[in-house]
Amino acid sequence: MRLLSCAKYVSLALVASAFQLPLLDTLQSQITSYLSQAHVAEEDGPVSHGGNGHGGNDASYRDVPRELWALDYTQYEGDKIVRVRMNEETKHLVMGMREVYDQWEGNDEFVDFRVPSEDIPLLQEHLDCEIMIDDLGQAVYETFPKVAEELKLETTDDFQAMTDLFFKEYRPLNTIYSWLDMMKETFPDFVEIEWLGQTYEGRDMKALHLSVDKGLNPDKKTIVLTAGVHAREWISTSTALFTIFKLLTEYGHSKKETRYLEQLDFLIVPVFNPDGYAYSWSQDRLWRKNRQETYIPRCFGIDIDRSFGYHWTKSEDYPCGESYSGEAAFEAIEAENLDTYINVTRKDHQIYGFLDLHSYTQKILCPYAYSCDEQPRDIENLLELAYGISKSIRLRYGKHYEVLPACKDRGVDIMPGLGAGSALDFMYHNRAHWAFQLKLRDTGSHGFLLPSEFIVPVGKEIYAAVKYFCEFILNPDL
Ligand SMILES: [Zn+2]
Repeated sequence: MRLLSCAKYVSLALVASAFQLPLLDTLQSQITSYLSQAHVAEEDGPVSHGGNGHGGNDASYRDVPRELWALDYTQYEGDKIVRVRMNEETKHLVMGMREVYDQWEGNDEFVDFRVPSEDIPLLQEHLDCEIMIDDLGQAVYETFPKVAEELKLETTDDFQAMTDLFFKEYRPLNTIYSWLDMMKETFPDFVEIEWLGQTYEGRDMKALHLSVDKGLNPDKKTIVLTAGVHAREWISTSTALFTIFKLLTEYGHSKKETRYLEQLDFLIVPVFNPDGYAYSWSQDRLWRKNRQETYIPRCFGIDIDRSFGYHWTKSEDYPCGESYSGEAAFEAIEAENLDTYINVTRKDHQIYGFLDLHSYTQKILCPYAYSCDEQPRDIENLLELAYGISKSIRLRYGKHYEVLPACKDRGVDIMPGLGAGSALDFMYHNRAHWAFQLKLRDTGSHGFLLPSEFIVPVGKEIYAAVKYFCEFILNPDL
């Protein structure tokens, strides 16, 4: 959105005129008093003001020497994350705000937007608004590792200690890829690192293929798990890595995992969007798309989850927008690479399950995303499975994950076309009999900026969901 400042203020004028208000001059006041209000969010605790609830990075980034900054935090200065609740009267106006602001998450009740402080009084005057993140720069800063040096991974006798350290913080791409190598070295009989292809910027896309007796059992069922499709959703990647770790380390110790690895194949892509992920570590923590060139110079990136070729339609977003679909299906190289990997390289695999990890809002989304009119097959079993997954998560830490059709989550009833081109629909329609998109924690207090202390709790609760999914798929009657 930073690239769009001109267009943005034109659009903001349109929003203001829709309110039948004087234009931008109404936006200039009231900020200070508004910001002093205390807001209490839902179960995850107080609003993230930056500095809240995070173990180590309590200092303000403003007090840290600039040469130690991971990226330029001043780019977020003055911006806030605002939850705008809507009703029948205001929903079209709120959806129209997508043209103006970066939308984080939303449903048919509310949408979270990134909004400059100076716009907030006007919005607050006419819409039901709540500030979720007050100091965006500080909240960004707090998601980076407390120790600036990169973690050095080495094969060690104290594997547990190394693992504890690894999952203490989010990790950059190079460290993650070194960790995958370490898993391969530590568990050479069960792990293959497979190459899906390169990205636009020449990074490798990698999958971990986990299996015992690889290739010996042609009737094995396969589960595909992907994460990090959207660059800023770091918790999805850490959770995929945690899942890999648990499956491998419990094998031979727990009956369940031993059975999973003997009777199932897992293809796990923990960083689906390596270019975007690397960019979110070095340039903009809140980057969402890949980093492909588009037909507009200086507007980079296609939303990979709008690029898959099942009921693909061109998005209304133009190339600078966060949800730009590209000009044709599979224009996003990462989507095309998955298609080739699944349908050519691994075409012999019987893919029974697909889980695509995202964040946030704690949801289990069922097919289809593109339309609420197409009924998914086996709907009763599909819903039973979804509710079972939700229950398995709730039993771990009591967190509620709502089950709903992906089309509803994407708001296609308000804006048709928003749900087209998802990995969920593509995989469900073409290869995976059972498929879900999981949106992980939280419900909005931290949004995409979930502090690293949640890596292990979220890893554990989603691992409980993965186990439930495995049990369901191993049912011989399916
Ligand atoms: Zn996402």
